[in-house]
Amino acid sequence: MRCFVCEVCRCEGDDWMFRNGEKSKLSGVKLYRVYQGREARAQLCHLHALQLFTMGERRFLRSHLGFARIIADRGQNYEEDSFDYGFGAS
Ligand SMILES: [Zn+2]
Repeated sequence: MRCFVCEVCRCEGDDWMFRNGEKSKLSGVKLYRVYQGREARAQLCHLHALQLFTMGERRFLRSHLGFARIIADRGQNYEEDSFDYGFGAS
């Protein structure tokens, strides 16, 4: 069973269900500054997706370093990791 949790909240130990309340739907986002030449994908809760949008990717990553590191680490295993959340297009 796949666990749908916001990746930033999970990194930071936040209670994402509590913080997001009814708006517990996750958003698939794409990040363009993490890897060179390809996009990174992540699942974010409503609050963090909004924060990414308002802050911009660079500031968002800087303020969520744990998340940024996980995304970067995952990029190194990108080839063997069939990374697909099945959420469809954004
Ligand atoms: Zn979150």
